[in-house]
Amino acid sequence: MLKLTVMVEPLHVLDLSLDEIVRFVEGLGERPFRGRQLFSALHNRRVRSFTEITDLPKAFRALLVERATLRTLALEARYFSTDGTRRYLFRTRDGHPVETVFIPEARRDTICFSSQAGCALACAFCLTAQLGLKRSLTAGEIVEQIICALNDVYGEAGDVPHGTNLVAMGAGEPLLALDSLLKALRIMAAPEGLHIVPRRVTVSTAGVVPRIRQLAEVKDRPHLAVSLSAPTDELRDRLMPINRRWPLAELLAACRDFQRSLRPGERLTFEYVMLSGVNDADEQARQLARLLNRHQLRAKVNLIPHNPAEPLPYRPSPDERIESFRRILEAKGIPTFVRRPRGRDIFAACGQLAARHLTEASLSS
Ligand code: SAH
Repeated sequence: MLKLTVMVEPLHVLDLSLDEIVRFVEGLGERPFRGRQLFSALHNRRVRSFTEITDLPKAFRALLVERATLRTLALEARYFSTDGTRRYLFRTRDGHPVETVFIPEARRDTICFSSQAGCALACAFCLTAQLGLKRSLTAGEIVEQIICALNDVYGEAGDVPHGTNLVAMGAGEPLLALDSLLKALRIMAAPEGLHIVPRRVTVSTAGVVPRIRQLAEVKDRPHLAVSLSAPTDELRDRLMPINRRWPLAELLAACRDFQRSLRPGERLTFEYVMLSGVNDADEQARQLARLLNRHQLRAKVNLIPHNPAEPLPYRPSPDERIESFRRILEAKGIPTFVRRPRGRDIFAACGQLAARHLTEASLSS
C-alpha cells in the first residue's frame, strides 16, 4: 500500500480562544473543564511546556505534545538598554524576524509588540521599511510575544506587579493584520488568562482608512493612534507613501468618524515624528493645528523625536525646535506631549526595529 506522509504545521494552542480550546480538547476526548485548565495554564500561569501543566492527566499531556505546540517563536537575541528597556528578536518557524520591546515604567510596564514581520508601507524615516513585508503574524504569534516578554522579566508564572499596557507599535502595520490583531486582543483580554483588557491597548496606524472605520465598529476596541508626521499632502506623500492612496482629507474624515466611537475621557492620538528641517518648522505646526481644528478633531498629539536610523538621511529636531512646535499646538488648544525615546542604544525605539543584531562593540558605542 502506498503511504503518504504529509507535513502539517502543528496546531499552535496560543492561537485558540477559550471556546476554541474547549472544543479542541473535547475533540481529543476530554471534558470541557480540561480546556479551561489548559487555557489558564497557558495564559494565566504562562506555562511554556505541556509536560509542566501538572494539573492535567499525564496521558493527556502526552497527547497534547503529539497534537499541538505552544512555541512558534524562537528567541534569537535579547538586548538590554541602559534605561531598562529590553528588546527581543525572535524568529518564526518559517524564518522571519519578529521584534518585541519591554519598556519598564514607573506606573505600569509597556510591551510594544509587532503585528507583521517586516512592513509594506515604506515610510521614508522608518528602518522597518527596509525589511519589506514578509507576512502578517498570526494571533498566536502576537500573544506569544507578550507571554515571552513577561516571562523573561517576571519569570514563568511570576506575578506582574503593576499590570501591563500594550502598544501595537512594533514592526508592521497593525490594521493590515487586523484579524490576527483583534483575535489576539480577545485572547489576551480573557479574565481566565492574561487579562489585559483593550482599554490598556493602543493600536497605531499609518492611516489605513477603511480599517479605521472598521475598528470604530468593534465592541471593546483598543485605543487608536494615527501617525501623521506631515501637515500637507505634498510632504506626507514623500514621507509616507500610504498618503498617495489615502490623502490627509480622507484620513482625517475617517478619524472624525472614529471620534464618534470614543468613550468619555478617551481621545484619539496623532503621532508626529520630528525630522529636523523637514517637518518641524513653526509654520508647519500652525498648518497642523489648522488641519486638526478644521476637521474638528479633539485629539492629542504626541511628538516623537526622530530616532537615529542609519543609513536613513534624517536627523532629529533639536529640543528647542520640538518645544516651539509643541507650544504652538498647545496655544491652538491641542494637548501636545513629547514622547521620551526609550531603548535607543539597543535599537529598540520607534522606527528602529529592523531585526538588527548588535555586537558588544556596537552596544557600548
Ligand atoms: N505602522 C504603524 C505602527 C508603527 S508605530 C504606524 O505607522 O503607526 C511606530 C511609530 O514610530 C509610528 O508613529 C512611526 O511614525 C514612528 N517612527 C517611525 N520611524 C521612526 C523614527 N526613526 N524615529 C521616531 N519615530 C519613528
